[in-house]
Amino acid sequence: MPLVTNRQLLDEAAKGGYGVGAFNVNDMEQIQAIMEAAKETNSPVIIQASRGARAFAQDNYLYHLMLAAAELYPQIPLAMHLDHGNSFETCESAIKLGFTSVMMDGSLKADGKTPSTFEENVEVTRKVVDYAHERGISVEGEIGVLGGIEDGHGAGGSGLEHVTDPDQAVEFAERTGVDALAIAIGTSHGAYKFTKKPDGSVLKMDLLIAIHKRLPKTHLVMHGSSSVPKELQDIINQYGGKLKETWGVPVEEIQLGIKNGVRKINVDTDNRLAITGAIRKVFAETPEKFDPRDYMKPARAAMQKVVAQRMTQFGQAGHAGDYTAISIADMAKGYANGTLSTKPLVAAR
Ligand SMILES: [Zn+2]
Repeated sequence: MPLVTNRQLLDEAAKGGYGVGAFNVNDMEQIQAIMEAAKETNSPVIIQASRGARAFAQDNYLYHLMLAAAELYPQIPLAMHLDHGNSFETCESAIKLGFTSVMMDGSLKADGKTPSTFEENVEVTRKVVDYAHERGISVEGEIGVLGGIEDGHGAGGSGLEHVTDPDQAVEFAERTGVDALAIAIGTSHGAYKFTKKPDGSVLKMDLLIAIHKRLPKTHLVMHGSSSVPKELQDIINQYGGKLKETWGVPVEEIQLGIKNGVRKINVDTDNRLAITGAIRKVFAETPEKFDPRDYMKPARAAMQKVVAQRMTQFGQAGHAGDYTAISIADMAKGYANGTLSTKPLVAAR
């Protein structure tokens, strides 16, 4: 089927009560791994590219690889999403290229590092929403600031300095009209999220539940949600790697989030770990090999395994055939005539 919007995927996920993994890509093998996992588990899926990925792969390569994926897997609903757009111009260029969904991360200034003011965030996000919805493209915003840095993007810190304020989340959703909202509840980007096993004191699940109660119809997004499994860290370190001990977000916490309005879960680090571990293993065990396929094949298979596991854990498995694609032109009509109204349904306090 043609590429669909995140909005359609997430509306369907809300109906079905499940979450959809959004997996980052930079190259063909990662796209192949995700699509094979989607086929294996019969899952709708979001593939996303950051500014770093667009710079690494070049826009046209990325876009045409995504078209190839849609062509090869007509049974899989697939959205192409921009991860952490830093400005109106970045989002505009992604939409012009053919992305079906964009994130405008106005929680940071355009430098991708300095936290912005609430008003600055509302203003730039609203501008992207107006431009995108007119063209049938969905928008994710962010309120609160996530921890960590990835691909040079992020404010750093533990993720607890600027957690999302529920009142601001409501005002932000109302004033911007975003289709999905990323919230900061203590998660961080990158591999080094927590220095001890996370519990209620580092991940603010109560805050997430409070936001969902106030905004029951808004699709919530969890960023920095790799689980950083010990097995994957161990493989890397067993074959010469030097990762420091670290913990990610436990899958059970994500599942609790999904029960409370989380519809999109961003995963990148786990796949990076799986790929690197598989390549290190080939290099260590068979140092005479030099054909890239000898290590790219197991790397791709290792990533596919992790992605398929997450698809099953998030509940999207089995849902690929639930619906057919709404065209981008029809999405634009829906935004224009109000059937896709993003006016959040705000619950009484
Ligand atoms: Zn993120």
